[in-house]
Amino acid sequence: MVIVGGGVIGCSIAYFLAAHHGIQAVILERDGIGSGASGNAAGELAAVGRHQYSDMYTKFILQGIAMHHELADEIMDTSGIDYLFSDITQVRPALNRSDVTDLQYQVQWQESLGLSANWVEPSELKSRYGWLSHKALGAVETVEKQLESYPFCLAMLRAAEKLGVTVKSGDAAKIVQLPGQIVEVELESGETIQTTNLVIANGPWAVALGASLGFTIPMKPLRGQIVHAALPSGFGLPSYSIFHDSNYMLPKASGALLLGTTDEAVGFNPFPTKEAERDILASVVDMIPPLEAASVIRTTACLRPSTPDDLPIIGQIPDSDGIYLATGHGHKGITLALITGKAIGDLVARRNCDIDISMFKLSRFGTMQ
Ligand SMILES: Cc1cc2nc3c(=O)[nH]c(=O)nc-3n(C[C@H](O)[C@H](O)[C@H](O)COP(=O)(O)OP(=O)(O)OC[C@H]3O[C@@H](n4cnc5c(N)ncnc54)[C@H](O)[C@@H]3O)c2cc1C
Repeated sequence: MVIVGGGVIGCSIAYFLAAHHGIQAVILERDGIGSGASGNAAGELAAVGRHQYSDMYTKFILQGIAMHHELADEIMDTSGIDYLFSDITQVRPALNRSDVTDLQYQVQWQESLGLSANWVEPSELKSRYGWLSHKALGAVETVEKQLESYPFCLAMLRAAEKLGVTVKSGDAAKIVQLPGQIVEVELESGETIQTTNLVIANGPWAVALGASLGFTIPMKPLRGQIVHAALPSGFGLPSYSIFHDSNYMLPKASGALLLGTTDEAVGFNPFPTKEAERDILASVVDMIPPLEAASVIRTTACLRPSTPDDLPIIGQIPDSDGIYLATGHGHKGITLALITGKAIGDLVARRNCDIDISMFKLSRFGTMQ
């Protein structure tokens, strides 16, 4: 069993294969574990935010968050890594009239899904969320979960390693399906590895491996940048996050303060830019004036694997023998890591899974050749 990609998706699949099915995979990683988006994500786990997904996908995300609740202690105990899984109040302000309509509709929609969400009137905002601009015309408040992404990714790996999973350093260049359910992975170094089951879980770079097998994965890298900021002494971190469109302030349980973000279609360019840093700061300061006092520690950038319909691609590659895809998680890869790991683990080991992943088939794009 070989898994290409040591991001949060690959590590989670390895964990579930070992923990639930006694299958010890080899994770093939060309750089470092969590070196892509997985180790640099904000680490917020929320079903509702700037994107309002379909009811079906939202229920899948909620199932994924429920698995984080169920398994956090087990993963942290097994791995010995505390990834600071904790509560955070999320505030989504209305900054204009059309936001008010949209957000009040979202409150009703969230309630219809059994989620708790409160509309806060402008008169109450100052006393509850004093950092928010006085321009806000109301806000939705919810309680969400968050974690530290890099420690989470390492915890998944360490827990898997304790069950026999290993990591091999190598850059997969090509995949070839051989007769008799043999899959061959050819590395850039020229070395080849043969296996009976292979999962392609290497984030946005999965496109090239798909092409080597003769099919198209319609996925693009979407760069996201985060400003890591610090406040002067005496300021203290607020106990809540604020999200509006792509802009947010997210105080972390570690004491870090994250300001986000961008959605940039700039190909495989993973470098942060001064321009994005300036734009992020200008937008968040407009919405949260006390952030004017914040200073920049550093700005990071990484690439989300992004599909045209914003849904991941999870499942077996049609007409293949033992080749699976788990990628395209876009803005939700940390949130969906556990549910994806379990689904692929069951699929590989039992050839079916109890989790409904039918909406995530690659064939929905009609790009199989
Ligand atoms: C700024 C930002 C903030 C985010 N915040 C959140 C958040 O708050 N909550 C949330 O749920 N999601 C968030 N995300 C999304 C989340 O980070 C991604 O969806 C997720 O990390 C994707 O994981 P992955 O394992 O598929 O890919 P990656 O993390 O990209 O991992 C792929 C791995 O494969 C390796 N690799 C690539 N090609 C090869 C090859 N040929 N051979 C061997 N190894 C290879 C890479 O080195 C990499 O380590 C955020 C993303 C960004 C950019």
